[in-house]
Amino acid sequence: MDIKDMRPETVLAQAGGAIDQQSGGVVPPIQPATTFVRDENYNPLNPNNVYARPHNDVVRQAEGVLAELEGGEAALLFPSGMAAIAALFRTVPCGGRVVIQSGIYWNTTKWVRDFCDRRQIVVDEVDASDAAALAEICAKGPANIVWVETPSNPWLKITDVAAAKSAAESCGAILAVDSTAASPILTNPLKLGADIVMHSTTKVINGHSDVLGGVLICKEVTPVWDAIVMDRGSAGAVMGPFEAWLLLRGMRTMVLRVERMVDNAMKIASYLADHPKVEVVLYPGLADHAGHELAKRQMPGGFGFLMSFLVKGDRETALRVAGRLTLFHRATSLGGVESLVEHRHTIEPHTGIPETLLRISVGAEHAQDLIADLGQALGQ
Ligand SMILES: *Cc1c(COP(=O)(O)O)cnc(C)c1O
Repeated sequence: MDIKDMRPETVLAQAGGAIDQQSGGVVPPIQPATTFVRDENYNPLNPNNVYARPHNDVVRQAEGVLAELEGGEAALLFPSGMAAIAALFRTVPCGGRVVIQSGIYWNTTKWVRDFCDRRQIVVDEVDASDAAALAEICAKGPANIVWVETPSNPWLKITDVAAAKSAAESCGAILAVDSTAASPILTNPLKLGADIVMHSTTKVINGHSDVLGGVLICKEVTPVWDAIVMDRGSAGAVMGPFEAWLLLRGMRTMVLRVERMVDNAMKIASYLADHPKVEVVLYPGLADHAGHELAKRQMPGGFGFLMSFLVKGDRETALRVAGRLTLFHRATSLGGVESLVEHRHTIEPHTGIPETLLRISVGAEHAQDLIADLGQALGQ
């Protein structure tokens, strides 16, 4: 059966594909060689492999799986999510313009601002979950990239990808979507019109909090994409074969993990929404969330495993709740099988995050155990 005809469950359960012909193994081998031999006529023994910076089989296998999952033409893995983001923004010429969503993953904002400042690239920041505001800022003049993140981290705002594509088109920009908090199981931005989708594979794609990585996937191979391929091969921001192998191994259970985590998250969101010590829950699965209707259309597989909530009280109350949790680990990151809690204001006090906001990444534990932990931490 051709990979193109298979559903995500099947593609993933056998991620990496065919049996290793040499050993008969049912998982792909790791080839750590940094260089590959040529024959007596000086042709590479394997035409795909000359040198490990641009060429590694298991990296390509993992890329093939990710491209297939998102419905893209090609994928490129990077040693981190930020390296993937940087590779895309480095295609913007000096003096260009980018439009980026405000209130997103803080390190993206920070790096893009700093990079663009050094290149005299104009950065316009806008709340892209407001489609009219995005269209208005795009209409100001030509741009190179429109960058949105949906659901956004840690505000859980939902951006309409199809509307963002129209806005990007109106100023000649490509639309790139950071879909890390959604995963390829819950939404496929390329199918909604995006030109490039990015994931930090450090998060739910690997799912076990033990491999750093990032990926860009394109709808079509374009000159911008070719420039990224060239830059990665020459500048060398590549994922190593061991990491790519671990990633493939992690991806084999992605559907199962996401299903459980989404199910847990919905139960926890409903519990917190009714809790007397919680002021508000930010989770697109809740009917009163501003992006709920849009998320229902855009995320047919479910609303994700990430949420934030505001504790009634002050900074100390929120920190006390975080401190009393025993199952949720107090750590940054998201998308692993273990649940995490984070007091974002401690990390980024300057970005307008409320002092009472706790962000949780819901893992694959039993929902009732997680709810009991939250209950005792909040004080019933
Ligand atoms: C973690 C994350 C990134 C950055 O990825 P790294 O793998 O940590 O470099 C970018 N965007 C979002 C939404 C993230 O959660």
